[in-house]
Amino acid sequence: MSCCDNCEKRIDQNEIMQMFMETGALLQGHFLLTSGKHSGQYMQCAQVLQYPRKAARLGRELALKFDGVEVQTVIGPAMGGIIVAHEVGRYLGVKAIFTERQNGEMALRRGFQLSPGEKVLVVEDVITTGGSVKEVIAIVKEAGAIPVGVGVLVDRSGGKADFGGLLLHSLLQMNIEASEPDNCPLCAQGLPWEKPGSRGSK
Ligand SMILES: [Zn+2]
Repeated sequence: MSCCDNCEKRIDQNEIMQMFMETGALLQGHFLLTSGKHSGQYMQCAQVLQYPRKAARLGRELALKFDGVEVQTVIGPAMGGIIVAHEVGRYLGVKAIFTERQNGEMALRRGFQLSPGEKVLVVEDVITTGGSVKEVIAIVKEAGAIPVGVGVLVDRSGGKADFGGLLLHSLLQMNIEASEPDNCPLCAQGLPWEKPGSRGSK
């Protein structure tokens, strides 16, 4: 099933990068991050996932990375993992569910259930440390289900993310550098910074 001929094509890293740039999911400039650090790039996957056909293509491409792996359910952490799980699950023709925080603890809610032995693919939009993904893997294991891999749109861990040896695939690997304002090379050039998201709302 596809929406157009283009959807039948595999997309390579350059095209994926292009999708992120043209939708504003990846911004180039000089940004103040919520951490207080400055960066020349800013990523917000929701900007590309707001377009369902683009989300579907990314989900399909991520699903294809796990060709040959048996998957019965796709799961991702809210919010970032919901659409990714949905689109990967759609392509694979399997159930897609999500975890969410309840009093700070990651949990399966809304009657979502995993069964012992169920083969589960864990997905997320972006990982830096991979903390949320690890919490989801713990939930999968607690249910007696079997995590078969981790799929992310963007791996920002610099190759450091490790999920106990689980198969990890990403569509993009990015190292977004951030520095303290005192140390910022862009500030040193005298370039004005902006808060991400303030563009277009001026
Ligand atoms: Zn700066």
